[in-house]
Amino acid sequence: MHEFELIQHFFHHTASRDLPDGVLGIGDDAALLPMDAERALAVSTDSLLEGVHFFAQMPAHALGFKSLAVNLSDLAAMGATAKYFTLALHLPAVDKSWLDEFQRGLFACAQHYAIALVGGDTCRSQQGIGINITVMGEVPRQQALLRSRAQVGDIIYVSGQLGESALGLLGLQQKIPVNEQWLQQHYYPQPQLALGQALLGIATAAIDISDGLLADLGHVLTASGVGARLDYKRLPLARASEHLPAEQVLLAALCGGEDYQLCFTVPEQQRQAMTALTTRFSLTAIGEIIEGGGVTFEPQLPYHLKSDLGFKHF
Ligand code: ADP
Ligand code: MG
Repeated sequence: MHEFELIQHFFHHTASRDLPDGVLGIGDDAALLPMDAERALAVSTDSLLEGVHFFAQMPAHALGFKSLAVNLSDLAAMGATAKYFTLALHLPAVDKSWLDEFQRGLFACAQHYAIALVGGDTCRSQQGIGINITVMGEVPRQQALLRSRAQVGDIIYVSGQLGESALGLLGLQQKIPVNEQWLQQHYYPQPQLALGQALLGIATAAIDISDGLLADLGHVLTASGVGARLDYKRLPLARASEHLPAEQVLLAALCGGEDYQLCFTVPEQQRQAMTALTTRFSLTAIGEIIEGGGVTFEPQLPYHLKSDLGFKHF
């Protein structure tokens, strides 16, 4: 049973039964809870566990920054404005210099994205560091960017470059030469909050790329009941990656995790609005939404990809 089957089987089924009208529960990047006629509270939670999400030697400053950034990325995917967060810390011991660096990274991120810490929990862990953050944001109810609203004919876009974080990790593991730019993407991801908000009223669907483009686009396709045609030659690949095998760079772009960029769909009629947005953001059209399901490559991929793509915990 993998992660998504587990959630579906044990939690989604019962949890979705008695939800009040207007509430969006399990299944998107954040839950949406109506605040008043116009606005919804967007809520999302994510954990970072030592040995699973990061190595013990990860610099504490980067860990503080990244713990919040990956959570903010889910708010970005809804088009929400970040407001408040809580922090649950599980620590094997009190290491003051580690904590000081961690909080500096955390608050650097909080300040940059204008989000305030309002509570949390602290306890001793038996093994390794664990960080859980819950973020809360605000979004116009009618315009929130859901995974489920992609339409046949929509253009599929991604922001930024794909695969740099995964290649940064390979560098850390000494499997490829270290590249500082990629390492920076891996340690200090930049959640696309401004882009998410700019897409309100323009994009039909959006998701953040945390588990790899193919896996995350796959969630949009399933939720919307559509398929996608992608042109792999248009993918925005990792910068300065010419020295690596082309297959490795492409695989990192399609399946490498932790890009924290946005993948979103836009109707043809919004072409002009998109032209305006490309002056503010780095955006690439990579394909279109078609009938059916799953991803079709046109032209065909020159490499064989493993069928079980994207990071899964189980
Ligand atoms: P993301 O990668 O955007 O953080 P996930 O893949 O972690 O999303 O989760 C998919 C969906 O399942 C989300 O809506 C999330 O809130 C929900 N979810 C994950 N784990 C649980 C759980 N244990 N109980 C209820 N909902 C969960
Ligand atoms: Mg997400």
